[in-house]
Amino acid sequence: MVQNLGNGIEAPAFVYNVNPARIVFGAGTLASLAREVSAAGCRRVLILSTPFQKPDAERLASDLGELTAGVFSEAAMHTPTPVTNAAVAKYSSCQADGVVSLGGGSTIGLGKAIAYRTDAIQFAVPTTYAGSEVTPILGQTEQGKKTTLRSNIVLPEVVIYDPDLTLGLPVAMSVTSGLNAMAHAIEAIYAQDRNPISSLMAVEGVRSLRDALPQIVRVPYDRTARGLALYGSWLCGTVLGTVGMSLHHKLCHTLGGSFDLPHSETHAILIPHTAAYNELAASDQLAPIANLFGGRLGAGLWEFAKSIGSPVSLKELGLEEADIERAADVAVQNPYWNPREIDRNSIAGLLRRAWAGQAPQS
Ligand code: NAD
Repeated sequence: MVQNLGNGIEAPAFVYNVNPARIVFGAGTLASLAREVSAAGCRRVLILSTPFQKPDAERLASDLGELTAGVFSEAAMHTPTPVTNAAVAKYSSCQADGVVSLGGGSTIGLGKAIAYRTDAIQFAVPTTYAGSEVTPILGQTEQGKKTTLRSNIVLPEVVIYDPDLTLGLPVAMSVTSGLNAMAHAIEAIYAQDRNPISSLMAVEGVRSLRDALPQIVRVPYDRTARGLALYGSWLCGTVLGTVGMSLHHKLCHTLGGSFDLPHSETHAILIPHTAAYNELAASDQLAPIANLFGGRLGAGLWEFAKSIGSPVSLKELGLEEADIERAADVAVQNPYWNPREIDRNSIAGLLRRAWAGQAPQS
């Protein structure tokens, strides 16, 4: 990433790809959705949500009036293809020309899957900290098999970040979703294709979430803390969409895909362990983030996660002890870049500690 110009002076050298998107950020910005839809040239939008957030989607449909083509409220974790097929059928039958994805990563994933098949314009309105709304990445499941694709077609055109929509995000989900966001930034800062801008965003994203999450635990309806957390999640999601991920995301993908573990909780439990594992190999790059947690990233992050009530053991999520060895096998199957060499025994050890809720080790 740097060129040495002699005399110890180094100049940066990097490639920086920007994902084009219009970001509208701030409390109350959901009120600008109708204006955004019209400005983008859409006439009728299909509003997407999970069954749980259906009342919110219906309220939004009513607020949008004639701009609403319909509501589809069957979004589900990991974007199952049968759900996407049903949503695409509804999108066509109600003659929509855009989708509004109101919700977390599951709903935003459905919007991306529809766009991938129809080129629909997407208006993403995130209500968690997962970050999918600013990435060109789509994970889908068909008959239990998860595949991931990267395409600019799936990148939402407009993202409305309204922290007011996160005021009711349950504290437990705020904590795990916030740690999920931090995990994107931690892996981004040592990514092979990192660049100065993604690294600045990564540090700022983690700092914002580190400051916001304890206050959200104390006062869940604190508007300032909610705004700061959502700002952090935008930064962390942006770097997820900009540079490559390594060991941490691979392990979470394995545990989610092969053992059906929940997304944000798995990220929250594993990130102190994967950060500790990579800490020795990438200490220079990680230093600005490690400093936010007392200098030792793995250990500091583990204490931080415990202090805000995060789950700390994979056992709590229902993983069987006997699954650890199989998970380690799957996780090392396909080689991929990581700052520290990956060996099966070390990964099995890492997973054993994370399973039992023990402190991370470098
Ligand atoms: P989620 O979208 O599955 O939401 C979990 C539950 O919380 C749902 O029932 C949802 O309706 C509810 N919920 C969401 N916001 C709420 C709020 N403000 N108040 C109350 N309830 C709320 O969870 P998630 O962690 O946001 O997303 C996980 C999914 O996103 C996974 O499938 C993951 O693979 C995907 N993801 C994809 C990317 C990407 O770049 N492609 C990035 C991150 C996550």
